[in-house]
Amino acid sequence: MADTKSKSKQKSDTTSKVTVSGVTFKCRLCEKQKPISEIKVVRRFRPVLFVCQDCEKSL
Ligand SMILES: [Zn+2]
Repeated sequence: MADTKSKSKQKSDTTSKVTVSGVTFKCRLCEKQKPISEIKVVRRFRPVLFVCQDCEKSL
């Protein structure tokens, strides 16, 4: 009964609030739930912008 291990099963479901073993945040640009380890703080903006790694590159 150890099915809490996350498989590499990716559903494009952004509406559910299921977190995958950890804290997530919502990117302000793409509005996707991302693991907190991918958060980037953009200090160029006020208030500061919290975006994911991918969006930060394109800023
Ligand atoms: Zn993003």
